[in-house]
Order: sequence, then structure tokens, then C-alpha cells
Amino acid sequence: MIGSGVGTRSWIGLCLGLVTASTIASATATAADCPGNPGALGTSRTLVVDPREHPLLGTMQYRETLPLRDHEVVLTFDDGPLPKYSYQVLKMLADECIKATFFIIGSQAKANPDGVRRLVAAGHTVGTHSMNHPLTFDRMPIEKAEAEINGGIEWTQAAMTDPSALAPFFRIPGLMRAEGVENYLASRGIQVWSADFPADDWRHVSSDRVYQLAMQRLEAKGKGILLLHDIQARTVAALPKIIRDLKARGYRIVHVVPATADRPATPTESVEWLMRPPSETVPIARWPRVPNFVFARTEMLPAPALADLNTELPRPVALSRHIAAQASAPILPVPGRDIFEIPEKSLAVLMASSSRRTATRLVSAEPAAAPLTPSPKNGKGKGKARAKTAAATPHGAQPAHGAASKRPAQRHAATPKPTRVASLKKRQQ
Ligand SMILES: [Zn+2]
Repeated sequence: MIGSGVGTRSWIGLCLGLVTASTIASATATAADCPGNPGALGTSRTLVVDPREHPLLGTMQYRETLPLRDHEVVLTFDDGPLPKYSYQVLKMLADECIKATFFIIGSQAKANPDGVRRLVAAGHTVGTHSMNHPLTFDRMPIEKAEAEINGGIEWTQAAMTDPSALAPFFRIPGLMRAEGVENYLASRGIQVWSADFPADDWRHVSSDRVYQLAMQRLEAKGKGILLLHDIQARTVAALPKIIRDLKARGYRIVHVVPATADRPATPTESVEWLMRPPSETVPIARWPRVPNFVFARTEMLPAPALADLNTELPRPVALSRHIAAQASAPILPVPGRDIFEIPEKSLAVLMASSSRRTATRLVSAEPAAAPLTPSPKNGKGKGKARAKTAAATPHGAQPAHGAASKRPAQRHAATPKPTRVASLKKRQQ
């Protein structure tokens, strides 16, 4: 038994080496105990989880995942039971004394109740995966989602000799998560299982590819929940290679079961439910503090990260540095037009303070600057320059060109009248 109370944390810290050693020893013992297969991968330990304490699992979509140690793997299989393939998967797992978790579709359980009974009899954990596997959980009305969830539970339990054998674990079809669905499941004490990595075994890829992806993604994270499908020929073909490699690379299988009145949850620290717990050995002070908002929206993704699914992403449009800088720059209020204008009264001051040539130019050009609409005789370049000036003014501050051109006399009558220095400079060029 693991101690409890204040001393637990330090005890775990001090005895980490001992725990690791005992884990390996128990794994070896389990494998050795596998009848007829002394070299079996086996199941290294059973992890008891309380869905009410950790309602959302799997780093593909959620902040938390199972509290696994390095090189620990949980195998999960979705969409069965389908005798043709599911029974082959069952046989392979039995030969290696591996315990896994299966997420059952209600309609499959209805069609193959014996498949569900075999899973339970073999000691695997059985959760559910909806009634009909619709890929619209993220947008269907909550009543429909509830009916899908309950239908799956009802038919899976109906297939069991003992309905209490059903684990309160649910995987949303296609991982199409929605808050309403998660809240409903949480209210019923059902744990939502996303995953830490898939192997793309539902896609039209070779079994070798499934095996490669499973191992590559596992190696990248070092531990986690692997999502597979026991209704695919390519999964059946890939599984022996995956098991062989897990063994060769020192991975250990963990069997996950729900806590019950007689079976308390395995004691864990909250930090263990993170894939990458902040390490005490990292000199945090050397790194700049990352603002919270960066992570504010990443706790739950709308769907699996595309990178996890190895999806072909559209090539990002290459932005020039200038555009990229503009895109990331904060939006500033547009300056008022009058800050670029010089009231006519100020011209006298300007004349006194600037050179005679500049002042003369400003005065002689002023009357021509008033009409806002260029005459049809104006050159192309001038029209463009004017358009540019108009675009630089605040929205709505500039009168409509047509209106201005119809009332030139009114405009001239207004005093004091501003002079557009920018326009004047263009005009003189
Ligand atoms: Zn599925």
C-alpha cells in the first residue's frame, strides 16, 4: 500500500528509484506468468481512476491525460465488436497477457452481444462509443447526443451478463467534442476519453504505416493512450509488430479500470495527470514568463490536433515580413484628420518661420487644392495620389466625392480653411 498524508509526496520523491525497480520487477513477473508465453509483453500494472475527479482525458484534446509513468502505454480499441477482426485482436492480446480498453458501439453490441461478453470474460475494460457512431457530436442537439450516449450504454450493458461490468468511460465518435456533451457525461460520472495519439488505422494506409505511426507517435511522447480500431484488417496486421516493438523498446502496458466502492482510485498527485509535468530541475527563472493568454484557449481543442492525425495541411501562405508585422501589430486608433492640416491663419506664422520659397508655394497652391474630385483631364498619377490621401483619412470623415464636387462655392466660403500640405507637395511635383 502507498502511504497517505503529508509524507506521501516526499516518500514518492525519495523512493522513485525503488518504485521504478519494483514496477519493472512486477512487469517481468506478469509476463513470466503469462501461460505458454514466457516472453509475453504482459500487463505491468492496473491503474484505478475516478471519473469524477478527472472527467476529461487525452492530450489530443484535453489538458489532462492518464497518470502514466515514462514508457507506460494504454491500448484502446474503438468501434467493435466485429467478430471477424475483434476476435483476432482478442487472441493476440490474450497470447501476450495484455489488458486493454474497448469502446463499444451500441449497434455492434446489439448485432454481436457475444463479442461484448468475450471482452468482459477476458478481463478487458469495456466502455462505450455511442449507439450509431455519428460524426456530428460537435453540432447535434444535446437531446440527440444524450440519446446516442444512452443507446450505446443500454445495448452494451444488455449484452453483458453483469451490467455493472461496464466502465463509465466514453469516447466521442471521431473525437468531435462539444462542451454540452462533456458536461452531460460529467454529470453522470462518465469519463471522456480522447487519446494521446492515434495510428491512423481508419484511413486507407498500409498496416506497416499503422505500425510506424503508432511507434513514432509513442516515441515522441514517451508514454500515453494509443487509439486503435479492432474492426480494421490493417490493425490486426499491425498489432503483432506493435507488440513486438513495445517489448523491444521497454514499454509497459497499463490496464485502466474505474474506481468503485470496493476499489479506490490509485493515489496520484495532480501533476501526474499532465503529459509534461513541470520539472523541478528546470531552471525556470532563466526563461521568460509566458503570458497566460497563450494557453487560455488551448485547454480543449475543438477536434484532434491535425498534427496528431498526420493530416495533409494546406501550405501556409507565405507572408512578407512587412505584412506579418502588420498582422501582429496592435490596432491603433486612426489619427484625426485635423492633425495633418494647417489652419489658414497659421500660414502667416509659417511664412515668418519658413523660407520664402516654401511659403510662396503654399499660398499660391491653396485655391487649387480645394476641389476633392479630380477633373477628368487630370493625369493618372495625380488621381492615384489623391486616392491614397483619401484612404489615409478616418472612416466617414471624408465627404463623398460627388457631394464635394457639387458644392465648390460653399467649400470656399468656409473660413478658416485648412490647407492640405501633403496634397500640395504632390501637386508641386
Ligand atoms: Zn469510432
